[in-house]
Amino acid sequence: MWIVPEAQIASLMTREAAFTAVEQVFAAMARDEARNFPVVREALGHEDALYGFKGGFDRAGKVLGLKAGGYWPHNLERRGLINHQSTVFLFDPDTGQPVAMVGGNLLTALRTAAASAVSIRHLARPDARVLGMVGAGHQAKFQLRAALEQRAFERVIGWNLHPEMLPGLAAVAEEVGLPFEAVPLEGLRAADVIVTITSSFAPILMADHVSPGTHLACMGTDTKGKQEVDPQLLAGARVFTDEVAQSISIGEAQHAVAQGLIAEADVVQLGRVITGADPGRRSDQEITLFDGTGVGLQDLAVAAAVVDLAIAQGKAIRVEV
Ligand code: NAD
Repeated sequence: MWIVPEAQIASLMTREAAFTAVEQVFAAMARDEARNFPVVREALGHEDALYGFKGGFDRAGKVLGLKAGGYWPHNLERRGLINHQSTVFLFDPDTGQPVAMVGGNLLTALRTAAASAVSIRHLARPDARVLGMVGAGHQAKFQLRAALEQRAFERVIGWNLHPEMLPGLAAVAEEVGLPFEAVPLEGLRAADVIVTITSSFAPILMADHVSPGTHLACMGTDTKGKQEVDPQLLAGARVFTDEVAQSISIGEAQHAVAQGLIAEADVVQLGRVITGADPGRRSDQEITLFDGTGVGLQDLAVAAAVVDLAIAQGKAIRVEV
């Protein structure tokens, strides 16, 4: 079995490799060649931690495994560790034997950013020039870097509940030579693409903050009760997701479905656009919305890619089991 430690991931995994792995597995899901298993997520009653498993099997890519981990809210203050902690375990689908154990922290950020980037590649207007960000935390910088590679963006605008965090986004925009401007929520009407990545439990972005033709990648809502956007936005948009069952139960669509504004059948798997089974955006005026809930198969796809890279570069550790 191979071990790829967390410390090696940054020097191995690229945004391009993460994008390709996630795009391919979304397509495999749409072709019913890959499926996610039910998510387990439990409050441990210890250290206020949330812990769980996200697993799946990609028959096309021959990747079987799970990501185990969660959120330990006191890690940073008490131990200087990041609060999100996860590890991916891969198994040989032919024999059930363990194949690899891979650090999952950086991979989670890369695969989440890759998912919204895949949605932008396939759903944003080709002439999108202004990128809007809602949220400025740990994930937001990864989201911004990946999104900027998808269109010829000319400027970035952003809003965050805690405005003192926005310079972090400005620095990322600067890295690629783009201007960044902090705006009120109404200012997001100027955006052609908007990424939301907050831990909000109430709508932030309202329908009148979004112009016709915009593509939204809503990435923060991954748990029951979380919410970033006005359900009316979903009612007026074409809604896409990684996994329909998750979208309507723990994703942004949970609220619009509960209020009867949209039905499960209105939510389209992004993989169907990638495979050509769904047309995706149908006009320059349509609002498209990707509800990115985060699926186990994304984690397995990027972990499998990084194991291949680590073995090729002699950076994987081999242990006998
Ligand atoms: P973080 O703690 O680093 O940042 C949180 C962000 O949310 C900050 O911008 C903060 O200002 C903002 N915020 C906090 N409370 C808010 C509130 N009440 N209203 C509006 N904004 C608020 O977290 P992070 O690691 O950047 O993660 C952001 C979100 O993304 C979390 O909800 C996390 O669970 C989610 N996430 C989703 C996926 C996925 O696959 N969809 C993957 C990883 C993380």
